[in-house]
Amino acid sequence: MNYNDTPRHQGLRKRLVDGLKIKGIRNEKVLEAIGKVPRHLFMESGFINFAYKDQAFPIGAGQTISQPFTVAFQTQLLNIQKNEKVLEVGTGSGYQAAVLVEMGAKVFTIERQRELYLKVQKFLPSIGYSPACFFGDGYKGLPNLAPFDKILVTAGAPSIPQELKLQLKIGGTMVIPVGDKNRQEMYEIVRVAENDFTSKKHGGFVFVPLLKGTVNN
Ligand code: SAH
Repeated sequence: MNYNDTPRHQGLRKRLVDGLKIKGIRNEKVLEAIGKVPRHLFMESGFINFAYKDQAFPIGAGQTISQPFTVAFQTQLLNIQKNEKVLEVGTGSGYQAAVLVEMGAKVFTIERQRELYLKVQKFLPSIGYSPACFFGDGYKGLPNLAPFDKILVTAGAPSIPQELKLQLKIGGTMVIPVGDKNRQEMYEIVRVAENDFTSKKHGGFVFVPLLKGTVNN
């Protein structure tokens, strides 16, 4: 790929991955993907020096690129296998989508802010990642493209949207942070049968809120 990824960037990425291991991320495929995706290219230029710290950062339009640990944690819970169909709600910077593509998933990602959608749809293919990008309200999912093996929500939801649950394959998993605006609990939902879902909780996180409707500018 023709982009600026220096030995220094690569070294910082390796340190980030080592840090994620220490924090408990064990899935080799997740660590490998984070070791490959050039996170510095997803950030506003002023913040580039922070790209490989384990922190969330502003990406414009009042939104953030998730903290690498959070990306790794959610991706590990999803247990992604090659060629799985994955729906991501909340494209944001496109970083999480790139990690999923890097792992060999067929990625469908949806963003409610037109400005972010347009930016990512152009940017990701320019660095070699081509998920299917959609502009719309992720509360509704993508009913025409369902069912999905995995669904990943990367914004804090007040409750688990029924429409998304119904877009899971039987045996499929959804990872979604659920709670109020100050704190959400990470849920792992498995559709074990047509009308039977199990749920497990995996600790507290803080995401920007999952909001209804779209923003068209
Ligand atoms: N996955 C992103 C994290 C983005 S932050 C990354 O890797 O950078 C959450 C994103 O979810 C924001 O861009 C926000 O605009 C978006 N969002 C919030 N509610 C949404 C909804 N109902 N549908 C789609 N996107 C939504």
